[in-house]
Amino acid sequence: MKLVKIFAVLGVIVALLAGAVFHYFMDGALPEDPEFAINIEELRELAEAPSELRPTTIEYEIVARRDVPKLGTQAGLERSPITMARAVFRLRSEWGDTMIDVGMTDATRQEFMAEDVFEAEAMERVTAAVAGARSIVVTHEHPDHIGLLGQIESIRPDADGILLTAEQLAGIPKFADNGELPAMLAGLKPVSSDKPTVVAPGVVMLPAAGHTPGSVIFFVAMADGREVLFLGDTVWNMSNIRDALGRPRFVQQFLMPEPEDRGAVYDQLASVIALAEREPDLIMLPSHDEDNIDGLVKLGLLSHQMNSEPEPALQAETAP
Ligand SMILES: [Zn+2]
Repeated sequence: MKLVKIFAVLGVIVALLAGAVFHYFMDGALPEDPEFAINIEELRELAEAPSELRPTTIEYEIVARRDVPKLGTQAGLERSPITMARAVFRLRSEWGDTMIDVGMTDATRQEFMAEDVFEAEAMERVTAAVAGARSIVVTHEHPDHIGLLGQIESIRPDADGILLTAEQLAGIPKFADNGELPAMLAGLKPVSSDKPTVVAPGVVMLPAAGHTPGSVIFFVAMADGREVLFLGDTVWNMSNIRDALGRPRFVQQFLMPEPEDRGAVYDQLASVIALAEREPDLIMLPSHDEDNIDGLVKLGLLSHQMNSEPEPALQAETAP
């Protein structure tokens, strides 16, 4: 009788443990009817601009990287290493260059991402690119994406500027030297975060709060007709899209600076997957998937290194 009791208690413990493992690590199923919608027709309409003003080239730099077990990026128990690369993108255009994310200094990396390996030369090229850009936007307010703006003193005087939402602006002081907004950003008028907004010719910002309150996705209509979706951290790896599996709860709840909104991020991933099926030519660019970036470089769709001179902005055009 005693033995039966012991087995019963053990059984309950095993069941509880299995339930917890499933809940925190393995449950990544997406909603069938996501509330988030990506209206590609609306984005295409907003992105309309003369082809000579739209971006011709996408350049990237990896400013830091580290390997993590796959189970840290996608629900499941796969422990094989996956590289989390901190990519920054620059869209080249005759209108002027647009930065998508700005990276971080090594001091910021040490404080917030101590296990990352920093790429100092890449970050030097990014810093020069930011200084020469006409338009600067970010996918969200985490240090690897927005950090440099906490230390910035100037950008080119004819720039249309730094186009951030109120939620993104609120993130900058956390990565500033003195914990305050740099003077040149203090008077910045935020971009609306409740509707898609044009931030440069051919470049549309789509609000997508979830990973952080200030998360956005960029839709870009390139001069040659290519269409690109810059997903930021809505998706960390293309395998989230291929396998239709979101990030696990233990990462969402315990490993982020502030827990992300699981429902919102899962809705967004489900709608990205539906869109990818409908629009197979749409290029997807999560910020941290280096294999995906390498594949696009091989196809000639992305270029490495921001080492050339900034494009001179056209004098005639002012607002995007
Ligand atoms: Zn990130």
